[in-house]
Amino acid sequence: MIDWNIQSRAHACEACGRGFSDKETYHTLLFDERAAFRRIDVCQSCWQTQYSEGARERKGFVSYWHGVYEAPAPQSDPIQKETAESLLRKIIELNDRQYIPAAYILAVMLERKRVLKVKEQLVRDEGRIFVYEHPKTGEIFTIVDPNLQLNQLEAVQHDVAALLEHGFGGAASSAAPASEAMSAGDQIASVATQSARRVESGEV
Ligand SMILES: [Zn+2]
Repeated sequence: MIDWNIQSRAHACEACGRGFSDKETYHTLLFDERAAFRRIDVCQSCWQTQYSEGARERKGFVSYWHGVYEAPAPQSDPIQKETAESLLRKIIELNDRQYIPAAYILAVMLERKRVLKVKEQLVRDEGRIFVYEHPKTGEIFTIVDPNLQLNQLEAVQHDVAALLEHGFGGAASSAAPASEAMSAGDQIASVATQSARRVESGEV
């Protein structure tokens, strides 16, 4: 099973149904339910009364954290150029295995830019899975480690740079400016090389 997806932070407590207000503390539990990871967000009082004791011992528990809820900002700019982040979102939505290496490289790039933070690393039958949090939106991104070898890097770098430059449809209107794509290409090269070395030397 390839389990890569994005799970949004809930806008209300799963236990009592009350809507979160801006700057309120919420608690997130992540469970592995075989078909998918299940995310539960609960409010402070439900956390204390129903979850703080015992939730970590429940079947399938993989991770817990808490954070501060931020009310969603109104959408201002409907036309956005392709960035590493928008590209990663599209790739996850497509859910096509051929893009697993590209998704991994983009996630590492975003981790470096501190757009994503690693919350958990899990080992499953299909390999290593990284659970990333997007601290601004509270979403979690589940990314599969493609186990890239050094000799595969060039092709993946090329794919990612081409996607950043042209998007999926090759539509020029949604593409990043050439200068940005160029610098993205350099970044990809260094990120990809590092990731492969990391894998080769067995450290993570
Ligand atoms: Zn609650």
